[in-house]
Amino acid sequence: MAGKAKISLAWQMMIGLAVGVVVGAFVDSQFATTYLQPLGTLFIRLIRMVVVPLVVATIIAGSAGISDTAKLGRVALKVLIVYAITTAISVTFGLLFANAIQPGMGLDLSTEGLAAKAVSAPALSETLLNIVPINPMEAMAKGSMLQIIFFAVMFGFGLAALGERGKPVLNFFELVGDVMIRMTGYVMLYAPIGVFGLISFTVAKHGLQVLIPLLTLVLTSLIATAVLVFVILVPMVAILGKTGPAKFLKGIFEPWLIAFTTCSSAAALPANLKAARILGSTKAIASFSIPLGNTVNMNGTAVYMGVCSVFAAEVFGIDLSMTDQITIVLMGVLAAVGTAGVPGAGLIMTTVVFTQVGIPLEAVALIAGIDRLLDMIRTSINVVGDVASAIIVTNLEGDLNSEPYEEGEGV
Ligand code: ASP
Repeated sequence: MAGKAKISLAWQMMIGLAVGVVVGAFVDSQFATTYLQPLGTLFIRLIRMVVVPLVVATIIAGSAGISDTAKLGRVALKVLIVYAITTAISVTFGLLFANAIQPGMGLDLSTEGLAAKAVSAPALSETLLNIVPINPMEAMAKGSMLQIIFFAVMFGFGLAALGERGKPVLNFFELVGDVMIRMTGYVMLYAPIGVFGLISFTVAKHGLQVLIPLLTLVLTSLIATAVLVFVILVPMVAILGKTGPAKFLKGIFEPWLIAFTTCSSAAALPANLKAARILGSTKAIASFSIPLGNTVNMNGTAVYMGVCSVFAAEVFGIDLSMTDQITIVLMGVLAAVGTAGVPGAGLIMTTVVFTQVGIPLEAVALIAGIDRLLDMIRTSINVVGDVASAIIVTNLEGDLNSEPYEEGEGV
């Protein structure tokens, strides 16, 4: 098809969404259940298939990598502290705004008699004890994400402690991670049809009013993310990173735009390294913190975890107790850390949070219909958070602007 412009995946998903809405408005619910729902179910099964090996491999490789860089000592510690604090704040922002705006209130699927609804929240001590798997293989077979993450992080540290001898195993998990990201890419090729199936079935079954809460979900996520940037990140950069808002916002524009349009922080990585350097980070700190942040520091995805959890709980009529909300912050941080910098990865990782607080995974199907819009919002902020952290840590080290950026330099 030489000369024919290919329609990007983003557009294909938007088209799938639009066609799904129109088709769903015209077909009856019987037809939708028989012919359209399986298309969506296939998509859900495909993404669930990828999630366990993806998390195991990326967390093992990531945590082994973090320990490897421990020689950077103080810098590494500061970077990780900034990541942890901003990510926890991000999930909390998502929760707060979603609790205030209540994006799921217009849509009630609670009458569908889902078994997961009956699950009552366990005590906090039990939740915490449950983080530790008795049998890691069982945890993987059952898809208990928190247990899997706990095991994978410890495995990663143990692996790093082996040093040279551990390299083959580290390479193995890095490669498995790469393969799983490839597979996620293949799954996403089916996403337009999956989105079509999900949204047409949802509209046929519940009527067009289903879209209103979904738009509210997009708006809630947009507001929470924007407030996070302007009330937390920009002032933090100004105070702790000695860089004014105008300079910062101008500096991050390019990676922001790349992330916004591609929905992949990985795609924005080169531009992000350059932005951190131009804004005064040193080569050493930028080249350590930006690639690390690219995989573990996802402020936008963290906001999204909070917003989507409240949305999904509302839609399925589940009351989130205080313990649940704390669990969501904890799991949201871990899920954001475990999210790969590729389109749609965050959607897969919502299952980590949902499972933990008893939200039916059908909620993923609902969100999937508009996830591309949410992905644009969250990915663009994921990369902004990385540059913000790099500048803050560089300044805390007293190194800001000590090594001016030279056009075309390799970072
Ligand atoms: N697409 C996001 C990113 O690349 C990850 C996510 O889906 O949350 O940063």
